Amino acid sequence: MTIKKTLLVWFTFALVCVNPVLANEGTIAFIGGTIIDGTDAEPLPDSVLVVTDGRVRSVGPRAAVSIPEGAEVIDVSGKYLMPGMINAHGHVGATDGLDANGEYSTENLMRQLGLYARYGITTVNSLGGDEAAGFALRNEQYRSSLQRARLFVAGSVIAGADEQVIRDQVNRNADMGANFIKTRIDDNLGATQKMSRPLFEALVEQAHMRRLPVAVHLFYLDDAKYMLEVGADLIAHSIRDLPVDREFIAAVAEQGVCYIPTLTREVSTFVYEDVPEFFSDPYFLKEADPQVMAQLQTPERMSRMANSRAAQAYKAGLEVALANVGALHAADIPIAMGTDTGPPARFQGYFEHMELQLMADAGMSPLDVIRSATGVAADCIGMSDIGTLEPGRWADFSILTANPAVDIANTKTIETVYIAGNRVPQP
Ligand SMILES: [Zn+2]
Repeated sequence: MTIKKTLLVWFTFALVCVNPVLANEGTIAFIGGTIIDGTDAEPLPDSVLVVTDGRVRSVGPRAAVSIPEGAEVIDVSGKYLMPGMINAHGHVGATDGLDANGEYSTENLMRQLGLYARYGITTVNSLGGDEAAGFALRNEQYRSSLQRARLFVAGSVIAGADEQVIRDQVNRNADMGANFIKTRIDDNLGATQKMSRPLFEALVEQAHMRRLPVAVHLFYLDDAKYMLEVGADLIAHSIRDLPVDREFIAAVAEQGVCYIPTLTREVSTFVYEDVPEFFSDPYFLKEADPQVMAQLQTPERMSRMANSRAAQAYKAGLEVALANVGALHAADIPIAMGTDTGPPARFQGYFEHMELQLMADAGMSPLDVIRSATGVAADCIGMSDIGTLEPGRWADFSILTANPAVDIANTKTIETVYIAGNRVPQP
């Protein structure tokens, strides 16, 4: 092959393979912004963040960080950088508009992971309902050309009335490579029967035998104490029946178990009895499907929700949940941001920002809320290469035009999102 031909082939290859992915190759330096790094550190003004091959290479004050020769330089003076947020309890799957039973396909998952990403949610820990296509996406995300939210998976939600069935389900999820085992100990406000204690204990034993943590859907304080006794690993919803007490706080602190409030899950159960305020928020509208909004505002649907006993019970539960977040945060219990978005009318991406606001309303400072959605969430889901802007971690972060450390509502000023150092495409 002549040199000319070789060059032409190479050039075509580069165009076809590199250009459409816009892979982050080489080094980018973001200069002059204020960095909120997701750790306990205070915001760092006039900083430099250097990204190489999709990961944080160095970060610090301008005077202390040298910019590698040949780096692309991006001036972010007057702006704020924060790690990409981690939704420690979300779902991706078959939702299509208000239909929960659409297609569980790579295409539908990619649409949802793109949506999360554009809102600055760069990782979703899906706690159940995950099928092979979700596992496949999880497996192929460890690369510097990634441009959508990262996904971790739990497989099927474990349920059943027979111990062997439960152990087999745990094994099947473990064999597929699940990151978590997810189950429920809840009676849905008395409408269903809770999983029996011997079955729950067999489930936790089997999961731990497979070296997997167990995330638990619960409602009642007593069940939260019980799951801690059994040694389960993650509280996937708020305690909503009673205020947390000293006994619970002592047990949860001793075991280092994280707590995921999912406050917006509660909101979604009753908020459509009226036209929700957020239906006029431009930050919601930029991604909203007008058809879905119209369906949620039909009079029959609204009055059904207004008259639903469950909706009213969950509305009361939200008040208990908010007080419990405040009490647990004051007791230094690790709280990971999580929303339970994904099912219909729980809007992926936007609801995470609503969750941040509710956590602040519950008494957390804006910086603590940010930590809970970044570094703390990463620890809680056991992922040490995301969640903070420290050397070696994936360069998943957002650039904002207003300071979220003074007002958490400023997370809505996200201008650009980067995943593995790649700018997330806008639609
Ligand atoms: Zn869930």
